[in-house]
Amino acid sequence: MSAAPLDLIVIGCGTAGAAVARAAARAGLRVRAFDKRPLDEAGARWLNGVPRGAFAEAGLPQPQGAELGGAGGPFHMIAGMGPQRVTLDGADLLDVDMRHLVARLQRDARAAGVTLEGEVEVIDYAEGPAGAVLSLRGGAQLQAPLVVDASGLGGLGLRPAPRPAATELCVAAQAVFDVVDDVAAARFFADRGMAAGDTAVFTGISGGYSIINARLDLDDPAGPALALLTGGIPGLGFASGITLQQRFLGEHPWIGARRFGGARAIPIGPPLGPLVEGRLLRFGDAAGMVFAAHGSGIGLQLRAAADLAAHLASGGAPQAWTARFHQRFGGGACAAVVFARLSAQLRPEELAALFASGLTSPPLLLRGLLQEAMRPAPTELPGLLWRAARAPRVVARLGPTLARMQAVELHHLRVPAAPAAFGRWLRRRDAILGPPPTRPAQLGPDPSDAGAEL
Ligand SMILES: Cc1cc2nc3c(=O)[nH]c(=O)nc-3n(C[C@H](O)[C@H](O)[C@H](O)COP(=O)(O)OP(=O)(O)OC[C@H]3O[C@@H](n4cnc5c(N)ncnc54)[C@H](O)[C@@H]3O)c2cc1C
Repeated sequence: MSAAPLDLIVIGCGTAGAAVARAAARAGLRVRAFDKRPLDEAGARWLNGVPRGAFAEAGLPQPQGAELGGAGGPFHMIAGMGPQRVTLDGADLLDVDMRHLVARLQRDARAAGVTLEGEVEVIDYAEGPAGAVLSLRGGAQLQAPLVVDASGLGGLGLRPAPRPAATELCVAAQAVFDVVDDVAAARFFADRGMAAGDTAVFTGISGGYSIINARLDLDDPAGPALALLTGGIPGLGFASGITLQQRFLGEHPWIGARRFGGARAIPIGPPLGPLVEGRLLRFGDAAGMVFAAHGSGIGLQLRAAADLAAHLASGGAPQAWTARFHQRFGGGACAAVVFARLSAQLRPEELAALFASGLTSPPLLLRGLLQEAMRPAPTELPGLLWRAARAPRVVARLGPTLARMQAVELHHLRVPAAPAAFGRWLRRRDAILGPPPTRPAQLGPDPSDAGAEL
């Protein structure tokens, strides 16, 4: 048993774990952190879109240099393969190279006094009279008053926790590829009214939630490059992001070798209710901390890490953070789940009608993209009402979703601090959300999708 007194042990040194370790040590806590992978292979290894504002809110300097994979171009949300689209100003969504962001968080954590160790797997968790006891592969044991499980979706299972439904797992793939024929690549975008640097987001390609998101970078120092993000929900009978990526590559011979990237499942259901069980606090993907409307975990996890560290450093009880998390972050996260559940059910023609109606106005969609409340500003209301009157079928489809989003957000204004009342509040939250989507009976599995990717 290690003798060094610790305040906190963090399991996992990906984005969530490294962000918690960094913030907690900066706030004065004594922290150790482990990852079963080598530290320079921990966490996400691809480009992720992160709202600029999340960095400021988390007290992190903005990404620069190699960490900033791209930023700023127009963002075209296209129904199917088009032509119906809504174009947003993407200036505040940064394409972050997660390899560099995770390395920065780890570096900062180490500079603040954290001992970070790679290739150390945590294999067991128990609670003794003096704290949590972690067993590491190889036989060592460690003790601390609190353990943060940031081991990701595929993580630990140290203690059974509810798993997301298969219909609420988006399997995504993101990679950066060489472009072997930049003329053909530029033509692909020009034919669709876009330029290099624009982000083309083809939505509803295989199920309403699916996307193919492509950005051509002709100025990459390593030569012309294509950033390609794909995602879909195999649990609903649709193609996964891996399958969509393979298909897109097969259809476009101007795309060459992969430079870097990765793929895995993202939880897009509601965040776990109780985040703390005994001395174990679940965090990051392990706790479903993802903005479900587009499967984005990083912004929320960075902000929540800063909040958790501030809470613990000010002497807050870990158990009290469950209510605090839901009060501060849960309403937006759950409203995004409601939206994700609608979009998962939309058929391509419904998506096109929605875009054509003008009800999904650029300011509204931009708020969703930047993970802000998708509520119209008072000045937008007259225009929206006018458009609503002209699109009754779209309103019939969208209206209940907006009402449910509003209801779940309002419910989060009343998260009780007392643990005894929390269970009742959580049941009501889940009742407002309703059940996760079910796989439509008429849909078989996508025949080209092995499903083994999960
Ligand atoms: C292809 C793709 C694209 C995405 N795009 C976006 C995007 O554009 N924007 C966005 O915000 N989010 C995006 N996401 C989601 C985002 O990447 C995740 O939410 C985030 O990376 C989760 O971080 P995490 O630290 O919780 O988990 P992970 O990154 O999974 O890290 C968990 C770490 O724990 C370690 N670990 C596991 N078990 C143990 C153990 N027993 N002992 C020690 N260590 C252990 C693992 O090795 C791993 O390094 C995307 C996800 C994917 C797959």
